[in-house]
Amino acid sequence: MKTKLNLLYGGKSAEHKVSLQTAKAVIGALDPEKYDIQPIFITTEGRWVKGPLLSGPVETVKELEYNNGENIAPTALADASAQVEKGNTEVVFPLLHGPNGEDGTVQGMLELLNLPYVGNGVLASAAGMDKVIMKNLFAQAGLAQVDYVWFIRQSWKDDPEAAYKEVEERLGYPCFVKPANLGSSVGISKCTNREELSQAFEEAFQFDRKIIIEEGVVAREIEIGVMGNDKPECSVAGEIVPKKDFYDYKAKYEDGETALIIPAEISDEVYAEMKDMAVKSYKALDNSGLVRADFFLTKDGRVLINEVNTMPGFTPFSMFPLLWKHTGVDYPALIERLVQLAIERHEEKQ
Ligand code: ADP
Ligand code: MG
Ligand code: MG
Repeated sequence: MKTKLNLLYGGKSAEHKVSLQTAKAVIGALDPEKYDIQPIFITTEGRWVKGPLLSGPVETVKELEYNNGENIAPTALADASAQVEKGNTEVVFPLLHGPNGEDGTVQGMLELLNLPYVGNGVLASAAGMDKVIMKNLFAQAGLAQVDYVWFIRQSWKDDPEAAYKEVEERLGYPCFVKPANLGSSVGISKCTNREELSQAFEEAFQFDRKIIIEEGVVAREIEIGVMGNDKPECSVAGEIVPKKDFYDYKAKYEDGETALIIPAEISDEVYAEMKDMAVKSYKALDNSGLVRADFFLTKDGRVLINEVNTMPGFTPFSMFPLLWKHTGVDYPALIERLVQLAIERHEEKQ
């Protein structure tokens, strides 16, 4: 029996295009003998339509045509749910990044439909999306990280001076100001003085009602892929070397200038410490499926956890798949493993 794979791709978020590219790569890598693919395209307007198999360049996907098509949300998944009840194998693969995809919302809907799905569950997805909650959980697990403070928009509006003073006294400069619930470096600024700090608050609050400010460190950026449910396993480590001041949105998606070095040139001790921290963070956030755990390695050799991403970039040229390739798991095998983990987690719950 073939496994029916319901691929959710596109979406309303800023990462719509990235998602299309990922979907194209995943569809291309799937063995048609093993998988029956049901492509579900979420347009930029948020309509769910029966999507194309993306055989040509993703630029040729005509949004407008699809926006006029029948909105099949959530009928398509309700059908899948009925199939599961009959004992057929259906899995949902949400290839979506950012809010309304990676943050527990889609995951909650899939839980209600009682469908197996690839990647993290509701709690881990939501906790991983909110940098404040994530860092609070890291702190509780005793993981080393940069110092941070956070504010909601209203408290800043009430007394901006007090907010800036708190940042200066507790963290000093340079510091990084970030919206709490985003990714892809959107809305993030590095600040070296009060003027930049107040501008950075304005900017970050445009994206979220909650922001986080962190002590800035000078450090190498090393990443590890983690995969599994109750027995997570780690990939080799990789280093990202942005040619810019920091790894901002442009460096990630537009310049193509950032170098990925795999495996990262780090000592066995540092690698062992990172793996240990990656697994501890996986347990702290109750992750399942996969994460990419991102670290800072400071000049004096300290390992700090920066963040985990619950749906990391997933094209064959993204860090997560490349890390696993170097670990001996190629792209088709990686997808197969993730689908298997989704089924195992679903069975564990029943
Ligand atoms: P995102 O979830 O958007 O990727 P990150 O917290 O990873 O957000 O920040 C994006 C980039 O900004 C990092 O990859 C790094 O280059 C830089 N950066 C973020 N926080 C710090 C910090 N505290 N010190 C130094 N650089 C930082
Ligand atoms: Mg992130
Ligand atoms: Mg990051």
